[in-house]
Amino acid sequence: MKAKVLHFKKKCTGCSACFGQSPVFWKMDSDGEGFSSLIGAKEIGDHWELEVDTKEAIRANEEAAEICPVNIIHVKKYENK
Ligand code: SF4
Repeated sequence: MKAKVLHFKKKCTGCSACFGQSPVFWKMDSDGEGFSSLIGAKEIGDHWELEVDTKEAIRANEEAAEICPVNIIHVKKYENK
């Protein structure tokens, strides 16, 4: 199982809940904007995206998605090809 983790960063409120829940994958930016970042993600169009491929990584990001109060983290699972 693989998954894409999507972060619609422009709508981030900087509450840091994702970082508090899953600090292996999330950090808070130090550039003064106050947004969070999905570590290692690439900017694609209107969001940032990271591919993960372990059950633990998927679960950790699902937990971050569940705790985000503005619902801007999405985990899209798909089968390995
Ligand atoms: S939980 Fe959501 S709103 Fe809060 S810092 Fe993370 S992405 Fe931003």
